[in-house]
Amino acid sequence: MSGSDLAYRGRFAPSPTGPLHLGSLVAALASYLDARHCSGSWLVRMDDLDPPREEPGAADNILHSLQCHGLHWDEHILYQRTRTAAYNAALANLADRNHLFHCDCTRAILSISGACDSDCKTSQTKISGPAATRIRVPFEQEIVFKDRLQRQEHTLLGQSLENFVVKRKDNLFAYQLAVVVDDAEQGITHVVRGSDLLASTPRQIFLQQCLLYPTPRYCHVPVITTSQGQKFSKQNHAPALDNSMPRSNLLSALRLLHQREPPAMLSSVGQLLAFAVEHWSLEQVPAISSIPAAKIGVSA
Ligand code: GLU
Repeated sequence: MSGSDLAYRGRFAPSPTGPLHLGSLVAALASYLDARHCSGSWLVRMDDLDPPREEPGAADNILHSLQCHGLHWDEHILYQRTRTAAYNAALANLADRNHLFHCDCTRAILSISGACDSDCKTSQTKISGPAATRIRVPFEQEIVFKDRLQRQEHTLLGQSLENFVVKRKDNLFAYQLAVVVDDAEQGITHVVRGSDLLASTPRQIFLQQCLLYPTPRYCHVPVITTSQGQKFSKQNHAPALDNSMPRSNLLSALRLLHQREPPAMLSSVGQLLAFAVEHWSLEQVPAISSIPAAKIGVSA
């Protein structure tokens, strides 16, 4: 089944590791505009799967920033920390069909791709301590998908990645599993997100196929980078958005997405967003992986 046959349901799925910055606003805005332009629903999911990486208060901060920027979501927010039963059910489903194995290899002995190529796959009884759960990828497994913006992806997944982690050694569910279970739960038909996640998409499609879930349409927009070419992130000290300047932040994000400049007379955030929704054009978004913030005179 193709996601595009269904009523459009998009989402923004921030990780609460820090405040919203210009880079995350670009991703949020692109998914919001694409959904609203298609008269679709736009949902927010909080990817709070990894408590050690979280910053206290960041989830509420992000939601407050989205609201200050007029990015109002539909339905309730799905918090990944509440989804343990659903992730366990998906793992049980995969285990029943012999897709999974346990692996206690240290990082040092994993292959460069991060896959386990030791004998964990066959010697299950030897593992007693902490172990990751991995999914097997058949050697002949290919994943082909057409991103709505970037070039066609054809990945020989089984040749490049023999297996990957679905539950971590520290007992946390892996992002790849959680995102797939939650996109299916929320009935997401269209994923619009940063190009840094393009490489994850074949793994997610593989999991969808194993779990018999539909595959959404994917669109990976450029990530915003610092002058050193690094993705805007908390680690790179990207400044938090100033919530008192939503109009100018939205204009910066629209410029980075190469969208039509709203007329100056549209002074409210609501008017500006309505214009941006009406004139949203994915064709104008550069089909590249990154755009330096300096392009529009923002220094970082
Ligand atoms: N939580 C992820 C991030 O902030 C995004 C996940 C997704 O959009 O699939 O990078």
